[in-house]
Amino acid sequence: MVVPNFASFLSVLRVYINKSKDDMKIMYIFPHPDDESFGPAGAIDKQIKEGNEVILLTLTKGGATKVRHNLGLSIQEMGAVREKEMQKVQKSLGISEMNILDYKDGGLAKVNPLYLEGEILKWLQHYQPNVVITYPVHGGSGHHDHIALHHIIKRLYFDKKDTLKFWKRLAYFTVIDTGKPMFFEGGIPRVTWTKEKDIAVTVQLDESNIMAMKNALLCYDTYQEMVKTTNVIERIGSKTHFELEDENYKKVLSSITESITI
Ligand SMILES: [Zn+2]
Repeated sequence: MVVPNFASFLSVLRVYINKSKDDMKIMYIFPHPDDESFGPAGAIDKQIKEGNEVILLTLTKGGATKVRHNLGLSIQEMGAVREKEMQKVQKSLGISEMNILDYKDGGLAKVNPLYLEGEILKWLQHYQPNVVITYPVHGGSGHHDHIALHHIIKRLYFDKKDTLKFWKRLAYFTVIDTGKPMFFEGGIPRVTWTKEKDIAVTVQLDESNIMAMKNALLCYDTYQEMVKTTNVIERIGSKTHFELEDENYKKVLSSITESITI
């Protein structure tokens, strides 16, 4: 009987140690189901284990993905499938609150940005996150939904950060550029990622965080081919990088909440 009691004492102690007055609310805002898992999932796992609350808002159901053709599904049917897959991710990672909106997948750049600003502002006021995370200017993949959302949230940040007192930081999940030539053969430009000098936060992942990312990606039954072709697990490796908007530090921070107080 000694062992279980000791184990439960340890688990209580661990929660106590992990919880501090600085635990923060981190809100990821992405256009599509799977954006949270293709890259940031390991960092999300670490942020939750450190005692932060992680919230996820997705603007579309992601039904327009090309994968739907192989499965013979309509955009609506595919959206419903991805919504279910994302609910599994929520459980797998331990995301506390999740909302999946139903804007047109592939259509965010065509929506009046003021309207989308209003939508996002409503959710920010509801959850009151201390840190908001989305894509940087290159959108990661160059997807127009990713790029449109970047600009909408960035403008909102500069417009509202003085009045929304809870909002302390805007961060962008990113990867370091390969440094390869900007043009492929034939003069076709490639998406250039973030320069190393612009990386402001690097989160070191441990084995359990990497496993959490793999498990999150496994929740997307319909996307396993994409997991392989994008090589996302190897590309992220054991480090997850972020840019910070309008902040400058002499050293790269090691967590997304470092140097902010609430
Ligand atoms: Zn996306």
